[in-house]
Amino acid sequence: MGPMRDAANSDTEMLDFTRAELGTAGNPLKVAVVGSGPSGFYAAEALLQSRLTVEVDIIERLPVPYGLVRFGVAPDHAKLKSVTAVFQGIARDSRVRYFGNVTLGIDISIHQLTEMYHGVVVSTGASGDQRLNIEGEELEGVHAARDFVGWYNGHPDCASYHFDLSQEIVTVVGQGNVAIDVCRILSKSVDELRGTDIAEHALDALAGSRVREIHLVGRRGPVQAKFTSKELRELGTLEGWQPVIDPKDLELNAASLEELNNPNLANAKKNFEILKGFAEKPLDGRRPLYLDFLQTPVSLGGDHRLRAVTLERQRLEGDALNQVARATGERVVRPSGLLFRSVGYRGKEMPGVPFDDKRGVIRNKDGRVVDASGQRFPRLYTSGWIKRGPTGIIGTNRACSVDTVARLIEDLPMLEAARPGRNALTEYLGQRQQRVVSFADWLSIEQVELDRGRERKKVAEKLVSVSEMLAATDVAERAAA
Ligand code: NAP
Repeated sequence: MGPMRDAANSDTEMLDFTRAELGTAGNPLKVAVVGSGPSGFYAAEALLQSRLTVEVDIIERLPVPYGLVRFGVAPDHAKLKSVTAVFQGIARDSRVRYFGNVTLGIDISIHQLTEMYHGVVVSTGASGDQRLNIEGEELEGVHAARDFVGWYNGHPDCASYHFDLSQEIVTVVGQGNVAIDVCRILSKSVDELRGTDIAEHALDALAGSRVREIHLVGRRGPVQAKFTSKELRELGTLEGWQPVIDPKDLELNAASLEELNNPNLANAKKNFEILKGFAEKPLDGRRPLYLDFLQTPVSLGGDHRLRAVTLERQRLEGDALNQVARATGERVVRPSGLLFRSVGYRGKEMPGVPFDDKRGVIRNKDGRVVDASGQRFPRLYTSGWIKRGPTGIIGTNRACSVDTVARLIEDLPMLEAARPGRNALTEYLGQRQQRVVSFADWLSIEQVELDRGRERKKVAEKLVSVSEMLAATDVAERAAA
């Protein structure tokens, strides 16, 4: 018996001296995974693929699963969403139960979950975003890219947002793949997006867009940009828009040349070739999508709404791989009525869970949750973006969750105390009269979305409010009764 055995269960244990080893048929390992995005599903999958007998409950705040795959991946990147077939297979495994519409910290506390389960894996992703922290950031017309992404993807939290697409000049700050997604959705024609699962409210608003110039602004140079080359290349295939680059921005300093020739930075080399290709193309009358390097906004101006962005020219300082942007003092003011900051996502603190505010992640050591002094938080684990920060592609979360689950399994001797698991959760939520959404309920919501999509010749028309989602499951239940 390990040091973390809790007193609460010692009576049961003393009586239950015949109890089988944890993780066997007589004593299944009961784990709650909080969050049903990629990292949550991959944690569940890793548990299913272990040699142990397990019971896995996936707890999700919204009625609908899949997190960032549903609400982050751009609607015109349908292929990336095909991973939901894998997640569906996991959810349908008889050892797994989905508890949708249950919020950690509101409907149930972390303390309650660790009392109910042998282990709890928090995989809630990065639900906030980084700010620029400059003057004027509160002006109307200044938005987090995350909110725009949530809006066009029909996230219930963002469905009622308004983005003033009557503005002609848009600035997108940050040079990662989210920034590219925002630029692509702003620049694709409504006809190109119509057949996707983009939210209807977004399609309607984009149909009236007057945007005619976009600036994708990065504080560092073309070799340091975070885009992946596949996404960057796609900007060159837009029907009505042309990527435009100042050739001077492609003149590299010695450290950047060194980075460009680093065999570990193959993406940077590919990006550079693509950017050179963009720069060589003469302007052909399509609308310009400027890729502005070595610039950063230092203040945003306007009365109550954004009118102009003051940008400061940057230069790179430091050795290869560690170059940082430094202000040169050279400033330019550019008119712009709409700005999206796309400078990274950030995890949000949850009640009762140790949080590293500087990094925006749950405090952890290799996925084991620890407090500020490094002491283990018994039974609590974390995986995905809330564990390591918002980096990597969907598949990166698989390895991350596999690693966390391996730590949990290493800890089995410390997790032995009896736990009621699913029965206790079901009973507790029943007492609270919580409307729990099962995976079968989700499948009926999905069916409504597919049917509505078919009527509109779209892949799907998502339901964009929790009440609509719950109503869809009620209708399905009545029909089945
Ligand atoms: P990201 O890749 O980390 O890019 C963030 C960008 O913001 C960088 O260019 C960074 O520049 C810049 N930045 C940060 N702080 C700044 C500041 N204070 N002022 C100015 N610029 C600042 O983040 P992301 O675009 O949010 O993407 C998150 C993850 O999701 C990434 O791993 C991404 O690849 C992935 N993703 C993938 C896809 C896809 O596969 N299609 C789509 C979307 C997202 P510095 O480098 O100078 O810090």
